[in-house]
Amino acid sequence: MAISEHNIPRLQQIVSVALGNGASVREIINKLEDTLEGAYCPRGYGADDLDIATLVYRLGGRQLLFALNQKLSIPSLRTLRTRAAFTTITPTIGTIRNEHFDTNIQSGILSTRTDITSLHGVSIMIDEMAIEEMAVHYSKYNKIGGLCWKHSNLIDPVLRTYDSTVAIAQKIHDEEVHLGKEVTVIGVACFGEDELYPILVAPTCKTEDATDMEGVLGRALQRWKATGTDQTVGPIWSLATDGDATRRAAGHRLFIKQPLSMESPLYGILANMPGLNMWTGDNNVTLDFDLKHIFKRICTLIRSPAGITLNNGRVINAMMLAHYLVWLPAYDEAIELIRAIIELTQSQHTLLNDSFSPDVNRRADLMSIALLSDVIESFLIPFINVNLSLTEQVQYLSRFAHLSFALFRSHRRSFMSYQLGQYICPKVSVVAK
Ligand SMILES: [Zn+2]
Repeated sequence: MAISEHNIPRLQQIVSVALGNGASVREIINKLEDTLEGAYCPRGYGADDLDIATLVYRLGGRQLLFALNQKLSIPSLRTLRTRAAFTTITPTIGTIRNEHFDTNIQSGILSTRTDITSLHGVSIMIDEMAIEEMAVHYSKYNKIGGLCWKHSNLIDPVLRTYDSTVAIAQKIHDEEVHLGKEVTVIGVACFGEDELYPILVAPTCKTEDATDMEGVLGRALQRWKATGTDQTVGPIWSLATDGDATRRAAGHRLFIKQPLSMESPLYGILANMPGLNMWTGDNNVTLDFDLKHIFKRICTLIRSPAGITLNNGRVINAMMLAHYLVWLPAYDEAIELIRAIIELTQSQHTLLNDSFSPDVNRRADLMSIALLSDVIESFLIPFINVNLSLTEQVQYLSRFAHLSFALFRSHRRSFMSYQLGQYICPKVSVVAK
């Protein structure tokens, strides 16, 4: 009765904690009564609770977090401080300069990793995030932020006098300097670890060209070395980006510069893998594409009206897949769609193997879906199955490269665009040329 009349915050946690402690039904009811009277506060916050508390703190400040902690039992600021890592990022105000990287590397990485002494290979990642388009006053620096880094050299961001403020407003009005539409974020992660360390957050008006991007990426690599981080955290092994054309062009200039040196200890192993892209940048840094973006693009391609053409002339598109995927539970996310296609093929083994089946049309459809399933499975599995050995990972990727190469040769653009082909399979780009 009490439960029907009162809202007990975190009811699920109370019951599961009590069950975990081997409590009897009577004891659980006692706990619920204590909670109703405010005498018991359940512990055991999950990652979602911490995320919600962080969001409340960021959007509404400490007072709102306090109020909701009292009322809804979401984690308090004190719990947040002990359970979650707070990273302070120095924003980029004005043009991107060395000090922006250096401060973030120092405060976010060097000062937090003092207990980790072994070196790790490092990947630099770059992407963009939406922000609210507005100018912000950073009282700490008495400067105006939120303006695009590329054109910010046209103004003095310091609020010196009334006139200097008006001058900034005028430049924004005249569209010489822009309010950032997004922020370019560069982060760093060590192979074998989950943490991501942001080292640059710069507002952008999205007018940067490949040369600008090359400058920013080159600077990130250079500051990593200049601050000695390569000696304390580890050397940069790769740079990962999404499929953005400007960043891809800059990435090609910087990291597809020269073939792997014969003096490299890796050369003897890799040279025996014909077709493998052996081109790297300075210090053997390789260009990498973020796998989630690739999955997304493949799914967009499969779902597009034109679809994807494979060996037996069948076009696989959203309509055709929808027809067959109703046989399986609902899927929406990119990886889920890929998995659904693989699962569908596995579930239709009997029909696929029955070469005398009178259902010719359906079998032809399923055979093309089975081939698609092989292609995407070879690409997905090495990224999501953590139990594979390195050899197995390479075997899958090699199967993917060979299949997509053969399909691209036969069907060219009806298989996938040159751009996507180049993006996921460097071998394809040779054929495209
Ligand atoms: Zn601009």
